[in-house]
Amino acid sequence: MTTQKVAIVTGAARGIGSAVAQRLAQDGMSVAVLDLNEDACRHTVDAITAAGGHAVAVGADVSDEDQVIAAVDRILERLGAPTVLVNNAGIIRDNLLFKMTVDDWDTVLGVHLRGAFLMSKFCQRHMVEAGWGRIVNLSSTSALGNRGQANYSAAKAGMQGFTKTLALELGRFGITANAIAPGFIATDMTRATAERIGVSFDDFIDAAAQETAVKLAGQPEDIANAVSFFAGEAARYVSGQVLYVAGGPVD
Ligand code: NAP
Repeated sequence: MTTQKVAIVTGAARGIGSAVAQRLAQDGMSVAVLDLNEDACRHTVDAITAAGGHAVAVGADVSDEDQVIAAVDRILERLGAPTVLVNNAGIIRDNLLFKMTVDDWDTVLGVHLRGAFLMSKFCQRHMVEAGWGRIVNLSSTSALGNRGQANYSAAKAGMQGFTKTLALELGRFGITANAIAPGFIATDMTRATAERIGVSFDDFIDAAAQETAVKLAGQPEDIANAVSFFAGEAARYVSGQVLYVAGGPVD
């Protein structure tokens, strides 16, 4: 009998993270569904359990070192050594540069970059010990620049450099690191953007679809499919890559 691999998905209470957690459970992994609020993870855990999978809810703020250490220890105790990590937790605090507060800058960089750093730092030991690991980081097409998102685009470009460095440092231990850069995906995050700019979410989705080559709006499952590949055995020779999942080429 092979032991189930243990995956941690951050920001998995909803949106892309929830779809990724469900997909990795379908792929046969035990999944730690990690988010700020443990109760909010219930929906994702229940969906996994109902489909015959195995998952636990873990509350932690990925930007807080003590909480990350405690969360990884708890996951180790409850599920076993985590060897798959998906750094997905994210927030937006959009504003034009002249109106962006220092707090908006620090908070966004804190969740995306400091969060991915802390989670990776405290999980890598378990991957090194296992001689196998997979790290998948969520970047964004905003890494290429996006008006009103100086903080977010800096964080998402940073995720790409971070990913390539992890690939170089950890490859010799059987660990790969890759990034996925989604374009528009219909989630609460993009719903909030539609509200902020005063358009209905349906109109926002239609407009986003028209801007893609495939004339479709992305769904969380589109990202989960890409994560599933990077997290699996088949991706052992793919590392340090950035995959744009955006319905067409990006520049
Ligand atoms: P979402 O629906 O807003 O979900 C993000 C989740 O992350 C929420 O459950 C949130 O919890 C959690 N979270 C926020 N701060 C956290 C922290 N400090 N510690 C732990 N969890 C935290 O977002 P999404 O659209 O699914 O996005 C997921 C990832 O994909 C993000 O990294 C995002 O930047 C990236 N992405 C999204 C799109 C898109 O179009 N949706 C495009 C490109 C990239 P709370 O609900 O409690 O805040």
